[in-house]
Amino acid sequence: MELGECSVIGCGEPAVKVVGRRYLPALQALKLRVNPRVREFPLCKKHYKMAREALKELSR
Ligand SMILES: [Zn+2]
Repeated sequence: MELGECSVIGCGEPAVKVVGRRYLPALQALKLRVNPRVREFPLCKKHYKMAREALKELSR
């Protein structure tokens, strides 16, 4: 399935995973710039891993 590009502005890597809005605080905590008005964020491998770990930290 074609997921397009990573939604982090300036990244441009192919997306491997699409995450929902609950990842938005994690992306913002990482200072990653995304369009906050979309409902879903395709992420590349690197940014997905970073976001997943940041979300885990935030939910502690
Ligand atoms: Zn990326």
